Amino acid sequence: MSHLVQPRLINDPFSDPGVFVDFRFGRRALLFDLGEVAALSARELMRVSDALVSHAHMDHLAGFDRLLRVCLHRPQPLRLVGPDGFIARIAHRLHGYSWNLLGAHSPDFRLCVVEFADGRLRAAAEFRAQEQFREQRIEPPDLGPGIVLAEEEFRIEAAVLDHGIPSLAFALVEPARVNVWQGALERLGLVPGPWLAEAKRAVRRSLPSDTPVPVGEGRTLPLGELAAQAFRVGPGQKVAYVTDAADTIDNAARILTLAGKADTLFIEAVFLEADRAVAERTRHLTAARGGALARQAGVRQAVPFHHSARYADCQDALIDEFCAAFTHNKSIDA
Ligand SMILES: [Zn+2]
Ligand SMILES: [Zn+2]
Repeated sequence: MSHLVQPRLINDPFSDPGVFVDFRFGRRALLFDLGEVAALSARELMRVSDALVSHAHMDHLAGFDRLLRVCLHRPQPLRLVGPDGFIARIAHRLHGYSWNLLGAHSPDFRLCVVEFADGRLRAAAEFRAQEQFREQRIEPPDLGPGIVLAEEEFRIEAAVLDHGIPSLAFALVEPARVNVWQGALERLGLVPGPWLAEAKRAVRRSLPSDTPVPVGEGRTLPLGELAAQAFRVGPGQKVAYVTDAADTIDNAARILTLAGKADTLFIEAVFLEADRAVAERTRHLTAARGGALARQAGVRQAVPFHHSARYADCQDALIDEFCAAFTHNKSIDA
């Protein structure tokens, strides 16, 4: 089955952490974290609809200016999600520039910024190019606990981790995958059309099996019959992103809940166990702890990143510790 998204590290694992999440059909992308993004082309950045930022340490937010600059003249909004206090930080960044050339004649570009704190979206603000990025507070969307983005095809869950300051971890979750059996429509005498997307949506929403589904040319079929004969329903894709977290019991519990059974988990592997004291002081996970959490979460593939520069000449040692903890019969992408 093809995947909804293709995620990849933006930089090498010693450079700024972050993941570019590219959608299958190529018209949209998301970012987990917003550090250095020079490795991404302007064309790739233009597709970014949402940037989900763990926290405001520079290595996680320094790419904001470049992303803004690329997106400034597009009509589609750019949404940012960050931890408590994030709206004020973005407002300060925006105030660092002169915007006198923007006005009512400018493209209607908007920055929508939401804060995730205490387990839910707590505050939101909008900054419009036409208003020279004046801050306007708005009601945050009510998506319920643990959710920062909810759409038809996927949702993004978040957890607040302790990194001395709050640091957000994220998971993109595709609820269910509905594919059409090859040749099934032909056998049923059906012609693909807009009705097909509606029918798939009905399956994803688990509507009752006797729900009548319009299938074109004035015909309807019960949803259950259509699904049994034409659709293949499988588990959706899950991609989790965990970085900048102290090695605490609370953090571990939250990481395991968020990342459980992910197809791909990007998880920090900053220090060797020999340097555990530094990991504890800077509130990061060691490679061994990152690997162990990935194993306990039962993920299919684990990608370690955010290596400390002190290991630039001995990356293998970090990878070895990570792999030993994750187990050797799972796939590792270093
Ligand atoms: Zn940090
Ligand atoms: Zn960091």
